[in-house]
Amino acid sequence: MTVVAKKLDMSAADVAIADFYSPTELTDGFHLVIDALKLNGIDTIYGVPGIPITDLGRMAQAEGMRVLSFRHEQNAGNAAAIAGFLTKKPGICLTVSAPGFLNGLTALANATTNCFPMILISGSSEREIVDLQQGDYEEMDQLAIAKPLCKAAFRVLHACDIGIGVARAIRAAVSGRPGGVYLDLPAKLFAQVIDAQHGAKSLVKVIDAAPAQLPAPTAIARALDELRNAKRPLIILGKGAAYAQADDVVREFVERSGIPYVPMSMAKGLLPDTHPLSAGAARSTALKDSDVVLLVGARLNWLLSHGKGKAWGEPGSKRFIQIDIEPREMDSNVEIVAPVVGDIGSCVSALLDGLGDGWKGAPAEWVETIRAKREANIAKMAPKLMKNTAPMDFHSALGALRTVIKERPDAILVNEGANTLDLARGIIDMYQPRKRLDVGTWGIMGIGMGFAIAAAVETGKPVLAVEGDSAFGFSGMEVETICRYKLPICIVIFNNNGIYRGTDTDPTGRDPATTVFVPDSRYDRMMEAFGGVGAQVFTPDELKRAVDAAMDSGKPTLINAVIDPAAGSESGNIGSLNPQSVIKRK
Ligand code: ADP
Ligand code: MG
Repeated sequence: MTVVAKKLDMSAADVAIADFYSPTELTDGFHLVIDALKLNGIDTIYGVPGIPITDLGRMAQAEGMRVLSFRHEQNAGNAAAIAGFLTKKPGICLTVSAPGFLNGLTALANATTNCFPMILISGSSEREIVDLQQGDYEEMDQLAIAKPLCKAAFRVLHACDIGIGVARAIRAAVSGRPGGVYLDLPAKLFAQVIDAQHGAKSLVKVIDAAPAQLPAPTAIARALDELRNAKRPLIILGKGAAYAQADDVVREFVERSGIPYVPMSMAKGLLPDTHPLSAGAARSTALKDSDVVLLVGARLNWLLSHGKGKAWGEPGSKRFIQIDIEPREMDSNVEIVAPVVGDIGSCVSALLDGLGDGWKGAPAEWVETIRAKREANIAKMAPKLMKNTAPMDFHSALGALRTVIKERPDAILVNEGANTLDLARGIIDMYQPRKRLDVGTWGIMGIGMGFAIAAAVETGKPVLAVEGDSAFGFSGMEVETICRYKLPICIVIFNNNGIYRGTDTDPTGRDPATTVFVPDSRYDRMMEAFGGVGAQVFTPDELKRAVDAAMDSGKPTLINAVIDPAAGSESGNIGSLNPQSVIKRK
């Protein structure tokens, strides 16, 4: 592992004699980076090789790390980000300088926005040349560019500081509110040689990287008072609660309190969506009519209409309690009457203890209102999910996939698209925590293959990626990666010939409309090109059979699910976010 270099100013005989009496073992930047990661239990790297980090990847692989090479850095970065979400350890993305770094940066910014711990490690060009702007190969001041887009950014210039640099990056990524960290490693650093013993001593094993943060007893008492006085209490579980891996205590708290809960998209399955207290299918009523709302690792951002407006009923009708590790999240959109700052495991345990024997449960009338509304909505939806005709629409196709997940609850569902996302979120019930991975806080497209690959690698479980045909396009080349590593990933493309719909036309008649793709494309053949299994299906029954076969075989599979091009609405459920022009031109 360490390199033994000869002192150049000595003869061979001198070296032999010197080595005999005091052997000088040396190490270098490459090996110190690898040793620092391994020392901290990081065993997987997602990246794209190239100057100056090609050898780093090779050596990491030789040292027993798992190094997965992607076709584009953004997908490697998304893989690292979701690995962080799934494991609570920072996911590592490794890229080349300038363009590779920039490609990875989108994923780093997205990870930070979503509170996923991740470290983007990019090689960079020579400081002396970059800082004088003398035009180096891939010249760019990467540290300066990364800084505003992540939680922390560091650069290491000396091999003896690699241990500290990696330790700082790990702590910054996972402590407090998790997020993305940039670590800049200039090319010269990798080849720097230092004494191996000195090098080994310079490494830092991070102790208690994400320390428990206990809530203040007064904060717990205040929150419990609010819950006791509530007539129509509601719990909202967010992906922070899923990330925290405090599954048992969260479940126990919901059940002991008897309060209905709405899971945010990536918190689905924390309790099974079929749980009697789930208000998922009665979300509108629950938000509008509740009086006290307990947020558990969920922000009052656009996904919750900022805690105000029509969705939340009468102005002033809510009192919010919020559990979050980030104190500054409180009052970000509306007043939080009972802020509970701390980690979710500790906060929810303290609330649970505080319920004590005196807790009488949530008011029965409210719980019954929510239950009845949920049952009614489920019954209304049911027939749409059972149609078995061609062409499929979103509901009938998703009805088939809903059954797949019901039968295989430990499979991981990755989901992106517009209609494909919005409808799948409501239709496909989840049964276990951290099994639904999707577009997250920004609602972005392009996470699909990166998330699917990391989910398979990190968990070893089968992955079902349900993708709009447009969404898939952002990361589609990674089907080669999936085949190369023989991952148990089944991709289903909801192919309706375009973005939102495949029926638009260019009013001038010159080009295809801006939102349509080549009609009747055969995405399944992309998978076949790399040795995976491809299939095209027209009915829900065919879809179900094809997915079952993929899941049983564990072979990389891509199913082109032909969806009616006229099915689908503009921007799915968020069409209202599109600005409207009032100008009419002839
Ligand atoms: P969702 O989109 O599901 O509503 P958000 O990403 O908006 O979820 O919110 C997640 C919240 O969870 C963030 O405010 C983050 O600070 C918080 N969080 C993340 N991890 C923890 C943790 N271990 N303990 C407490 N809060 C956490
Ligand atoms: Mg489409």
